[in-house]
Amino acid sequence: METCGNPRSIFQFLVVVGITLSFLCNLPTTHAEPSTSRNDTKKENGPPQKLLIIMLDGFRWDYYDRQKEELPGFSEFLSKGVQAQWLEPSFPSNSYACWTTISTGVYPEVHGILDNFMFDQQFQAVFDFKNETSVSIEHWWQNVEPIWITATRHGRKALLHRWSSCDVPFDGLEPETCMSYYQHLNQSIEEGYSDTEEADLDAFRIAFQGLQLDYDIIMVYVESIDKFGHAYGPDSPELMEAVRHVDNALSLLLQEIKNAGLENNVNTVIIGDHGSTFVGQGSGTKIVQLSDYINASQVYKIVGKGAVVGIVPYAQTKKKVYQSLKGGVGFDTYLREEIPENFHYKKSKLVPEILLVAQPNYLILRLGDGEKQIPDDEPPAMKQRFKHFIPDGIHGYSNMTDMRTIFFAKGPAFKEGVAHPPIEMVDLYQIFTHLLDIPSNPNNGSWPRVSNMFSSALPTKTVSNLWIITTITFSTLFIISLNFNSIFIQ
Ligand SMILES: [Zn+2]
Repeated sequence: METCGNPRSIFQFLVVVGITLSFLCNLPTTHAEPSTSRNDTKKENGPPQKLLIIMLDGFRWDYYDRQKEELPGFSEFLSKGVQAQWLEPSFPSNSYACWTTISTGVYPEVHGILDNFMFDQQFQAVFDFKNETSVSIEHWWQNVEPIWITATRHGRKALLHRWSSCDVPFDGLEPETCMSYYQHLNQSIEEGYSDTEEADLDAFRIAFQGLQLDYDIIMVYVESIDKFGHAYGPDSPELMEAVRHVDNALSLLLQEIKNAGLENNVNTVIIGDHGSTFVGQGSGTKIVQLSDYINASQVYKIVGKGAVVGIVPYAQTKKKVYQSLKGGVGFDTYLREEIPENFHYKKSKLVPEILLVAQPNYLILRLGDGEKQIPDDEPPAMKQRFKHFIPDGIHGYSNMTDMRTIFFAKGPAFKEGVAHPPIEMVDLYQIFTHLLDIPSNPNNGSWPRVSNMFSSALPTKTVSNLWIITTITFSTLFIISLNFNSIFIQ
């Protein structure tokens, strides 16, 4: 019998303690307490790097490359940064679903914001992105923590400008400063302007102000490119002009950052939420009229329009409605359980019982106005501007080249002048937490898909590798110690 005083026992004891510690020290943290070590880091390693995220709504993956000679701001940015070949949006490629994937790193079936329009049967609640009250209800937003709350939880100061849902508390927490999209819209109307371009310039101005103050993460939203894409189409001169305007604002911001001596302290990430495809006159886009297949009396609700439409039938009409739609021309019809796994969509409890997904070159029209349709009416401006209420550019489609968007990044944490393979929208959250040097919550991102864009080794993301290395090392030592023991006994 060996005693505690035996050197081999001590060695084994230490190895077991080592293995235990390696587990305990490296368990992934989902709800870590606010970091207390940040100020120490500040003293030892100089000021922490700030993170600036600029979201350009509807900036298609090829908008820069096709007119780069006219875009000196983006060119300067990318000459010193990383350009992913494209950023693949989650499904459906519509703003609210994508924004929430960007901010949480999980697919819509996990975060639960499935589209710009939703219907919760249990609570008979409507989510309509054009209705401020409906999107501000906390109910929709409590599944997964957004990046600004993760940052706040870890003691980072967050500033969000025109960023949707930043005003909705999560787990009782709110970012330091938030001006939500609707708060900004209401304020700009009160102040007598609602011009999109002016609002864009505001976003770049606020971004620079935030960098000068003691914010750690600044997230600003820029809308004009999506608006022009819808109104005039992705290939229109008007859209290209809008991109030049944003380029000009970016040039000014880069200059200001340089003048203020902040260049080496800021990591800037420029992303889009989706692309746009031309569906206007001459595009050959065909219209799907739902009235060719079903009538309003057969369904309880019809959710959305365009590329993706949800149908909520009555229990007694479900089979008939499904059979009438299945095999329809220009769209795929799925029962909830038939929705393809790779949409990462069907597991949410808010998925309607029947889902219609338009094929490329097709567009699904509403069944009509009225309370069964969500939204229940087209906005008057839409009616005025567009024949059949169809804009010239739309998005929402699955797996279509035109839906891809951008990922551009620059700063001390990134390599310089690098063309990077495509990344996915679920990858962004872990990039943000890495840049803020805080732990990630569980997410659907792939670290190997993004790890090569960084200029240096990563303290937060190497946790899992560290876990593997330390565990393997101590396990090996443990096995060796057992062998020593058995040799000794023999
Ligand atoms: Zn849009």
